[in-house]
Amino acid sequence: MQDSYGRDINYLRISITDRCNLRCVYCMPEEGVAPISHTEILSYEEILRLVGIFSTLGIKHIRLTGGEPLVRKGVENLISDIKKIPGIETVSITTNGILIPEKIEALLAAGLDAVNISLDTLNPKRFENITRREGFEKVIEAIKLCEGSGIKTKVNCVAMKGVNEDELASIAGLAEDLNIAVRFIEYMPVGKNDFEKCVRKEDILKSLTSVYGPLYKLDKNFGNGPADYYKPEGFVGAIGIISAMTCNFCENCNRIRLTAEGFLKLCLQYDKGITLRDMMRDGATDEELAQEIEKAVKDKPKQHIFNDYQEHEGIEEKNMSRIGG
Ligand code: SAM
Ligand code: SF4
Repeated sequence: MQDSYGRDINYLRISITDRCNLRCVYCMPEEGVAPISHTEILSYEEILRLVGIFSTLGIKHIRLTGGEPLVRKGVENLISDIKKIPGIETVSITTNGILIPEKIEALLAAGLDAVNISLDTLNPKRFENITRREGFEKVIEAIKLCEGSGIKTKVNCVAMKGVNEDELASIAGLAEDLNIAVRFIEYMPVGKNDFEKCVRKEDILKSLTSVYGPLYKLDKNFGNGPADYYKPEGFVGAIGIISAMTCNFCENCNRIRLTAEGFLKLCLQYDKGITLRDMMRDGATDEELAQEIEKAVKDKPKQHIFNDYQEHEGIEEKNMSRIGG
């Protein structure tokens, strides 16, 4: 499936729940988030039907996200059912890792291909301040278990001024002995207007090189997504940087997003898209849904411009937990 800028859209991120067992400060308010009712959320049957349609349109890679995808019951069955859909080559998840220790065997048995685990600090007290919950040890255990199992493992760290910018090099150090990619994500003001928190790519690189020396840039094709990858001397793993704020990687964007409520979202920054859930529940056929999806994808915005937050209409106002990251 190509959009109107000739980009090949082959990657779909599906948020399977808006619920979460953490409350990260940059993603969700501590209180007052009313969970979306179960009837409004896509059932697994509906998700499978849509993935079947998306696969006929050229989607090959599926990532399950949330909220926290592992809090939804039966996620391992969903993974193994998606893996059976012809045309789907990989299924991965983005998780906070808390439930990995108890679910890893079921996830591997389901055929999960890759895991991204979010971790913003190596300091347990700071972990509690950022996530407003306990669970640091579980996340560390999750990273080691995943790496040890041989599944492709990445750690996602949101770099934030005044929060964790002083420990980016130590966090990157996780990749010194473990065969993982530690990726730093520039903080994005999705749904908000707070740019000051963002640590820019050049500053992230500066703090890494001050500790590890020169970083060797890896081939563009190392990952499947928007990160640039580097390898310091002697590292088993790699370091990635996702510079959503300062560099524009949109010309190679291959992704679309499906929210837990079945809204097909075309770009992280904008609220543009179509409500596939209602079309399905109103009796649309697979052919009709496929046509609407193709039409919507032609409307995918050229690029996001977070830096120009106030200048655009149709800006996304939801928290990241409602979008899936
Ligand atoms: N709960 C899972 C997790 O935390 O990995 C999946 C959902 S979470 C919304 C997906 C990713 O978005 C996480 O890696 C998280 O760190 C990132 N994220 C959330 N809010 C963000 C923000 N404002 N800027 C940059 N990344 C953000
Ligand atoms: Fe939950 Fe992930 Fe958002 Fe943290 S980033 S509150 S773990 S959805």
